[in-house]
Amino acid sequence: MSKERDRRTAADSLCTRPCDPPRAFHFFVDGRRARSVRVEIEQAVSQTKGSMIDRAALHGEILGQVRRAAAGKLRLGLDNGDVLEPVRRNPDLWEIKWKRGKRGEFRLYHAEPGNAPDLVGLRFHAKDTSSNDADEIEHLQNAEMDEAGRRFVDGVKDRWGHTPGCHDCAGS
Ligand SMILES: [Zn+2]
Repeated sequence: MSKERDRRTAADSLCTRPCDPPRAFHFFVDGRRARSVRVEIEQAVSQTKGSMIDRAALHGEILGQVRRAAAGKLRLGLDNGDVLEPVRRNPDLWEIKWKRGKRGEFRLYHAEPGNAPDLVGLRFHAKDTSSNDADEIEHLQNAEMDEAGRRFVDGVKDRWGHTPGCHDCAGS
């Protein structure tokens, strides 16, 4: 991994460069379908507080934001403080954040291979702040970023499960 200073900003991401039709934003799935980012989103949402309707709305917001990213229409401060940032500990990765107050915060780490697929979501999780300890919270989140980094490297040989007519891409 490069030790050069990471000078990326959100403006360097494909997620902020409009594209019509939208780019392929693939959700990582491994060969045995044991690990699936689509399922990680469903599981994280299912564990939030609120009614079934609240959870369905949150699920829709998250997928809607990913579809906007695929269309290159993510903008800083879009709503509710949601943001896109480079992951400083891994120059291959970007981070999309959802901040939902008492309902929690959510993170999607993705990479931008540029073709087949254009973008790949590698790991989705609810931010674990249960320790109330800043160092521990950071440690846990770094571990999630490192998992995304491993999936990026290990998955390149099968394009992270992306296929022609893929059913694991956002919007499919
Ligand atoms: Zn796909």
